[in-house]
Amino acid sequence: MSNVWTLLIADDCAEDREVYREYLLSDPHQSYQILEAASAELGLALCQKKHCDAILLDFRLPDMSGLEFLDELKQQKLPVPLPVIMLTGQGDERIAVQAMKRGAQDYLVKQHLQPDVLQLTVRNAIQQSHLQKQFSKIQERQQLAAAVALRIRQSQNLEKIVQTAVTEMQQLLECDRVVVYQIGANPDDNRSSESAKLYLTKLCEAGSSSSADAIELFTSFLRDNYQPSFGEVEGATTLAKAKASIIVARNRKKTQQAYLLVPVLLNNQEKSARIWGLLVAHQGSNQRQWRTEEVEIFNQLAEHLAVAIQQSEQLSQALMVSETEKQLNAFKSQLVSTVSHEYRTPLASILMAATTLKQHGDKLDETKHQQFLQIIEDKARQMAQLIDDLLVIEKFELGKAKFRPLPFELLQFFSDIIEQQRQTLSDRHELTFKITGNTKGFWGDGQLLRQILVNLLSNAIKYSPNGGNIEVHLMGNDSHIIFNVIDQGIGIPIEDKDRLFQLFSRASNVGSISGMGLGLAIVKACVQMHGGKMTVESQEEQGTKVTVCLPKRLS
Ligand code: ATP
Ligand code: MG
Repeated sequence: MSNVWTLLIADDCAEDREVYREYLLSDPHQSYQILEAASAELGLALCQKKHCDAILLDFRLPDMSGLEFLDELKQQKLPVPLPVIMLTGQGDERIAVQAMKRGAQDYLVKQHLQPDVLQLTVRNAIQQSHLQKQFSKIQERQQLAAAVALRIRQSQNLEKIVQTAVTEMQQLLECDRVVVYQIGANPDDNRSSESAKLYLTKLCEAGSSSSADAIELFTSFLRDNYQPSFGEVEGATTLAKAKASIIVARNRKKTQQAYLLVPVLLNNQEKSARIWGLLVAHQGSNQRQWRTEEVEIFNQLAEHLAVAIQQSEQLSQALMVSETEKQLNAFKSQLVSTVSHEYRTPLASILMAATTLKQHGDKLDETKHQQFLQIIEDKARQMAQLIDDLLVIEKFELGKAKFRPLPFELLQFFSDIIEQQRQTLSDRHELTFKITGNTKGFWGDGQLLRQILVNLLSNAIKYSPNGGNIEVHLMGNDSHIIFNVIDQGIGIPIEDKDRLFQLFSRASNVGSISGMGLGLAIVKACVQMHGGKMTVESQEEQGTKVTVCLPKRLS
C-alpha cells in the first residue's frame, strides 16, 4: 500500500478547491496527491482513468447534483467502491442524510470548514475503506479456503487428495510452490537423517519447481521440534508446536527463501498423534511476507488435508479387511467341498475293509487279514495328513504362522527326512542325496523347513508313478543355501505351471493320483517366511526340478 493517498476534489468553485488542497497538503500525518475536477463529467472520467483513494464531492455541481453523481459512480462498477465525502451547505442536513443513504461515507459542512476537521475526516474515510477492503479480501479467502477444504475432503484416494491440496493451495496463496512430503515412505532415500531415521519423500507439488528442495532444512526442523519422540507425538506440549512455522533460509546463491511449513498430523485429537508428512508453501525470495491470516488458512487446510488422508487410509484398510474376508469365505467354501470330496475315497476304503473284517474275518487267512488292516491304517494316515495340511494352511491364511529361526544343522536334518521318505519308496524308485559348498551358518525354522522338504519329496515320489531316480542336491555359499528336488516323473503341463502355488490347484495330468493341491502353497508360504525364493522347472513326461533358495540369516 502506497504512503501517498490520492484524493479527487470534485467542485466547480476553483477557490474552494484551492482551500481544500491547501488544507490537505498541510496534514502532518498524511501525504496526498490531489486530483481536481470542476464538473461531474470530468470527475467521473478521472475516477475511471486514475487510481483514487477517496472523493471530496460538492453537493451541487454544474452538470449534476452530488446525489446524481453518487448514483453514476455506482453505475461505473469500480473494482473497489470509492469512499465519498459529501460537502454540503449550511442547513442542508437533509441532503447529507440522503447522500449517506446512497453510499457516501461521510459529510462535511462547507462553511467554516476547519483544516484539522477536513484532514481527520478524509483520513478516517480512507483508513476505514482500506480496512474494509482488507476485511473483504480475508473473507473472500476464507470462503475460497472453505471451498478448497471441501474439495480436498471430497477427493477419493491419497493421490487425488494431495494433488488437489497442492494445486488449490498454490492458487489460493498465490505463491511459487506448494509441496507435500511424506515421512518414512522411502527407506532408500539417501538424504535421510541417520539418527532420527527420518525420510522425506516428495509426494506431490504444484507450481514452478525451479527452486531447489530444502529437505535438510525440513529434516532438521522436524528433528528439533519433535525429538526424541519423532513419529509418535506424545502429549499436548509437543502437539501445540504443530502449527505452521515460517522458515527463512539462504540458498547457495545467497538469496533468501521463505518457506511456510506445517507438519501433517494424523489422529491429531488423540494422544497417539502421528506425523504423516509435511505441507510446505514456498516463495523463492523473501519479498513475500506471509500474513497472519495466510498462516492461519495454511494451518486450517493442513488439518483438512490430515483428515482427508486419515479417511482414505481408513477406507483402504476397510477395503483390505473386506477383501481378506472375501478370500477367507472363498477359502472356507472351497475347503468344505474339497475335504468332503477327498475324504470320501479313503473313508469308503476304510469302511469296506472294516466291514469285510467284521463280517468275514473268521474266513480270511492271515495275509488277507493283514492286507485289510494295512488298508485301514494307510487310509487313516492319509486322512490325518489332510487334516494336518489344512491346519497349517489355516495358520498361514489367518496370519498366525510364526517364524522362529534357530542355528540349524542342515546335513543331519536333510539326511533324517530323506531316510524317512526312503522307507516309503517302492523298488522302482531310487532316492539320492548330494551336498556341495558351505552349508554352515544357516538359521532356519525346523517346522517350516520340514514342511518344505517333506512336501517336495512327497510330490517327487507321488508324481513319478513309474519310478526313477529322485535326487536331492543341497548347496551352500556365503550368504544362501540352495536345494533342488529333481524327479523323472510325469512333469507339469506348461499352461498349469504358474497357478500350482495357489490353494487347491492341481495340474491337468494328475489322472488318478490323489492330492488336494495344498502342498506347494504350504511350501511357498514357508519359503517366504524364510525370506527365500523358489522356482519350478518342468517338462511333461520328462520330470520336474524344484529349486529353493533361502538366505542363511534373515536380516
Ligand atoms: P497335496 O500336496 O495337498 O497332497 P497335491 O500334491 O496335488 O496335493 P501340491 O503339492 O500343491 O498338491 O501340488 C500341486 C500340483 O502341482 C499337483 O497336483 C501336481 O499337479 C503338480 N505337481 C507338484 N509337484 C509335482 C511334481 N514333482 N511332478 C509333477 N507334478 C507336480
Ligand atoms: Mg503335494
